[in-house]
Amino acid sequence: AKALGKARYCLFNKTMHQIAVSRLRLETDLRRALERQELRLHYQPLVSLKTGEITGFEALVRWEHPEQGLISPDQFIPVAEETGLINPIGWWVLREACLKLRIWQLTFPRKIPLTMSVNLSGKQFAQPGLIEQVDLILRETGCDRNSLKLELTESAIMDHSDANSILENLRALGVKLDIDDFGIGYSSLDRLYQFPINTLKIDKSFVSRLDAGGRNVEIVKAIVTLAHTLGMNVVGEGVESSYQLTQLQALNCEFAQGYFFSRPLDSKATEALLTSQPKW
Ligand code: C2E
Ligand code: CA
Ligand code: CA
Ligand code: CA
Repeated sequence: AKALGKARYCLFNKTMHQIAVSRLRLETDLRRALERQELRLHYQPLVSLKTGEITGFEALVRWEHPEQGLISPDQFIPVAEETGLINPIGWWVLREACLKLRIWQLTFPRKIPLTMSVNLSGKQFAQPGLIEQVDLILRETGCDRNSLKLELTESAIMDHSDANSILENLRALGVKLDIDDFGIGYSSLDRLYQFPINTLKIDKSFVSRLDAGGRNVEIVKAIVTLAHTLGMNVVGEGVESSYQLTQLQALNCEFAQGYFFSRPLDSKATEALLTSQPKW
């Protein structure tokens, strides 16, 4: 038993060591990813449930690692947050998304101009100089600021004691503010009411459970009612079936996003999609 214990101990140690090494390599590689231009943006359409048309896109970052291929943000955003690399990465994402917004608004003119949604992490939200940096990127890229939507999670906002004044300052720049993954964090409804938020994005876990009916439908209904009472729009995230789409429509949700319409696409495929003018 003693020998076995020792063997287990070594195995455990080796695994921990491997994790530490690969984690360190990831960090070193991530540091170079920006200068080596390995980051990419993919775009997922946001669809109006009234018209069935694309109204905008959410920019989602990917990392084209020279050896490991395309790495999803869930695998490197947490490391980027721990190391502070989220700041340069986040600013790159914002700049790139603003440039695309400007080009696509010119190339694909609409009655209501296309929107672009960009994720801001909690670390970015808490960073001093945030307002100045966003303003600088808006001016340098010359994009239509009223069409830019910044997505923040409930925890990013609620964790911050001075959230309201930051949000007010962001809004004063002309951009829109959306709450991401709504329903899974802990929102103080009292504070939510005070915040200058335009849109609640219902977390995909609720949308996927719409199929089960019953209680799940009631929860989404309650979120939509809450949003509308507070003068906000609602996006249903992670729509994968026409049944979920119909349910969200029946519950008066304004927008939807999900694999049912399109997976996130690279820039070229997004342009092809816009050219084909799909209607759902
Ligand atoms: P998120 O902001 O909630 O983005 C939605 C995620 O759900 C995306 O994953 C998207 O591909 C996925 N998704 C969309 N439709 C469906 C669907 O119908 N079914 C399912 N199962 N999934 C769907 P992705 O691109 O892997 O991004 C994961 C998360 O990484 C994002 O979640 C966001 O929190 C973070 N992230 C992505 N890009 C950025 C960024 O530029 N900055 C920051 N701070 N975070 C980012
Ligand atoms: Ca998001
Ligand atoms: Ca989300
Ligand atoms: Ca998420």
